[in-house]
Amino acid sequence: VGKQQIPLAEGLRSTLILLDHKVKSKHIQLNLTIADDLPPVCGWPGELNQVWTNLIDNAIDALPDGGKLDIISQADRRPDGSEFVVTKVIDNGSGIPEDIKDKIFEPFFTTKEIGKGTGLGLDIVQGIIKHHNGSIKLQSQPGHTEFSVCLPTQ
Ligand code: ADP
Ligand code: MG
Repeated sequence: VGKQQIPLAEGLRSTLILLDHKVKSKHIQLNLTIADDLPPVCGWPGELNQVWTNLIDNAIDALPDGGKLDIISQADRRPDGSEFVVTKVIDNGSGIPEDIKDKIFEPFFTTKEIGKGTGLGLDIVQGIIKHHNGSIKLQSQPGHTEFSVCLPTQ
């Protein structure tokens, strides 16, 4: 299957349905905000769903019971006129310590107990985003972690 025009809202919603049991069992306060006029991005829907799954799964793992998860998707334009969609996955959990920030995207790096993490999630995310000519940015401090994924609309 080749590249397609993907409505991001659908991918985010179906990912959240798959993770619903995990969201509910931890009493996560979930907010999904999708801009009304969000343009489709160009790529492979199954791959992008894997990105949302891995980022949201990590956010939930980092949250305490009753923690907050915000997912925001909106379009923007670079000075050269090219359009992209930025999707942010934000949690108010533990945060990522400064000394491991540059390691978390490496394959097999995990801080989770044996059997709870493979350390492959963010390596896969990075590979897929590269395949889409996109980019990912991390901002984190205790109580606030934000992964921003930029994807071109063409
Ligand atoms: P895994 O989830 O199997 O550990 P990942 O590649 O998905 O592997 O993540 C690597 C590590 O990055 C995690 O073990 C965790 O330490 C850290 N991490 C990722 N996302 C978050 C987050 N939202 N909050 C805190 N730590 C995170
Ligand atoms: Mg993970």
